[in-house]
Amino acid sequence: MNGELFDLVAPAKITNVHAYPAPPGSACNAFKCKQCKHICRVGHDSGKSHLKCDIIKQRWTTSCATDIQAKSPACRFFEMDLNRG
Ligand code: SF4
Repeated sequence: MNGELFDLVAPAKITNVHAYPAPPGSACNAFKCKQCKHICRVGHDSGKSHLKCDIIKQRWTTSCATDIQAKSPACRFFEMDLNRG
């Protein structure tokens, strides 16, 4: 069956799906958020920083509810960040 190879890959554990503009993995599992030009590191007064997706910037909160994970599989809005080494 065509999907057998992909069935062997454990799905990523994404708990806050609303932090992403589209479901993680809806593009291609070969790419991760950390390779996308839309990932942002947002500083906080406490000194901590959080990773967010700038596509849903209007929905950002100051809590971790809209934090994304760098290792999340890319969503369908993925755009390769060519400036990242
Ligand atoms: S792949 Fe890019 S656009 Fe999609 S959630 Fe991750 S950082 Fe945002």
